[in-house]
Amino acid sequence: MRPAVVHCTRPPLEALLPVALVVAAACAHDSPAPATPAARTPAPTIATAPAAPPPLEATVQRLQQVALASKNGERLARSLATDVGARIAGGPKDRAAIEWALRAMKEAGLSRVRTEPVKVPRWERGAAAAEIVGGQRLRVLALGGSIATPARGLEGEVTEFADTEALEKADPATLKGRIVFINQTTRRERDGSGYGDAVGARFQGPRLAGEKGAIAAIIRSIGTDAEAPHTGATSRKATVPSAALSGESADALHAVITGKKRTRVRLSLQAEWHEDADSANVLGEIQGSEEPDQIVLLGAHLDSWDVGQGAVDDGAGCAIVLEAARLIGAVGHPPRRTIRVVLFAAEEIGLSGGDAYAKTHAAEAPLHVVTMEADMGTARAYAARFLGSTEARPHFERIAAMLRPLGIATEARDAFGGADMGELRSLGVPAFEIAQDFTSYFDVHHSENDTVAKIDADGIAQTAAAYASAAWAIAQMNDGFGRIPEVKRGSKW
Ligand code: ZN
Ligand code: ZN
Repeated sequence: MRPAVVHCTRPPLEALLPVALVVAAACAHDSPAPATPAARTPAPTIATAPAAPPPLEATVQRLQQVALASKNGERLARSLATDVGARIAGGPKDRAAIEWALRAMKEAGLSRVRTEPVKVPRWERGAAAAEIVGGQRLRVLALGGSIATPARGLEGEVTEFADTEALEKADPATLKGRIVFINQTTRRERDGSGYGDAVGARFQGPRLAGEKGAIAAIIRSIGTDAEAPHTGATSRKATVPSAALSGESADALHAVITGKKRTRVRLSLQAEWHEDADSANVLGEIQGSEEPDQIVLLGAHLDSWDVGQGAVDDGAGCAIVLEAARLIGAVGHPPRRTIRVVLFAAEEIGLSGGDAYAKTHAAEAPLHVVTMEADMGTARAYAARFLGSTEARPHFERIAAMLRPLGIATEARDAFGGADMGELRSLGVPAFEIAQDFTSYFDVHHSENDTVAKIDADGIAQTAAAYASAAWAIAQMNDGFGRIPEVKRGSKW
C-alpha cells in the first residue's frame, strides 16, 4: 500500500511570491503537518479531511511575507502619477483618474467595481507672481480656492504676524488696505503634529485677513522644505486673494521687514472658480462569505493638487489600499466580512467625495465595522492607533500586535482616521489608523516636489502589508468593534 500523501493545500497567495520565497513559504502557513505516520501506515482520515482554515495570525504572517516581497504597490503609485499625473477635482484629468481607478480595481480582483456620482468644486489656477517693491522676486503659489487679484496685480504695505493667533488679535484699523503676511513655521515631526499646528494659517488666515480689511494674504508655505511654495485649500469664505511663499522667500521678506519700517509687496494671481463639476467615487469589494453586509472600509483619495504629479499625496495611498485588497483576494478563501475599497473624489478641495459617500451610504453606516484611510504618503508605517470604544480596544490591540513584525508599535493615542472618513466618524464608525512616518512628507506635500522620484517602494510595500493584515483580521474576527463614543466624534482635520 502506498503511504498517504499529506497534500499541501497552498492557497494562491504564494503564487504572488517570487519563486525563491514560494519554496521558503511552502506549507509553512498550515497547521503543522501530522507527524509522519509509522512507515507505510496510511492516515486516511487526515488526508481526506478538508483543510481547516489556518488560524488568523498564520494567515496574517503569510500576507505580510507576500506583501513585503511585492513591487506592485510601487508600480501602482508610479502608474497613477505618470499615466494620469496631477488630477485636481473636476479638472482635465479627473475622468482619466476615474478610468484608471476602475481598471486598477478590476486588476486587483475586486468585484462590484463601480462609480458613484459626486459633484465637486472646480477651481482653476492661473499664473502667479510676487515681488518686494524695489527688491527681489518671491517664489509664490496661489492657495487652492483663492480668488484672483485684479489683472494688473495689487500692491500694499505688509504687516507680518508670527501665527494665526496673532492675526486674530490684531486691530482691524491697523490692517486696512494692507497685505497680511503670516510667517508661521511648520515643525518637522514624525507624527505630523507640526502640520496640524500650522495649517490654520493656510485655511483660516486669508479669511481673517479679509475680515480685518486687508487686501490680500500671503503665508509662509505650510511645508518643511525651503525652496518650493506649497499650495492647499483655503477657506471659501476668504474674500481676498491668498498665496504661499517658499520658505526661502518668506525668510527674505521677513529680513526686509525687520530691517525697514515700511515694506511693500506686489502680488499678481490669476485664478477662477467655475460651476461645480461631475466627478465620482470609485468603489470595489471583496465580498464577505459569512457577514457580507458588514463592511471593513479601506479608503484613499483619487484627486490631487494641480502641481507636481500627486505621487505621494495621494497616489501612494491609492496604491496601498489597492495592493492590500489584491493580496487579501489571493488568500484562497474570502473574508467573513466584506472589504470595500473606495477611492474618493475631491478630498483636497471640498471633501466632497467623503461627504457624498457618507450621505449615499447613511443607511449602511451601522454596518460599517471599521474605516481605514491611507493618506499619509509613501514612507514606512511606525504606529497603529484606534478611535473607538473602550470595549473594542482589546480587539484592536490583538490586531496591532500582529503588525509588530513589520516594525509597527501600538499607540494609546486616538487615531485621527483620515479626512474622507470624517462624516462616518461623526456617525460613530471606528477608525483603525496605520500611522506612516511624516518626517519628510511635508517637504513634498502639495508642491512641485510631489513626483515619482519621491516614491519609497519599501515604505509602500510595508504599509500595504499592514493594511492587508489589519483589514483581513478585522474582517475575520467574530468580535464587533462598537461605535466611537459621542464625545470623540467629529474629529475633522
Ligand atoms: Zn491627501
Ligand atoms: Zn493633500
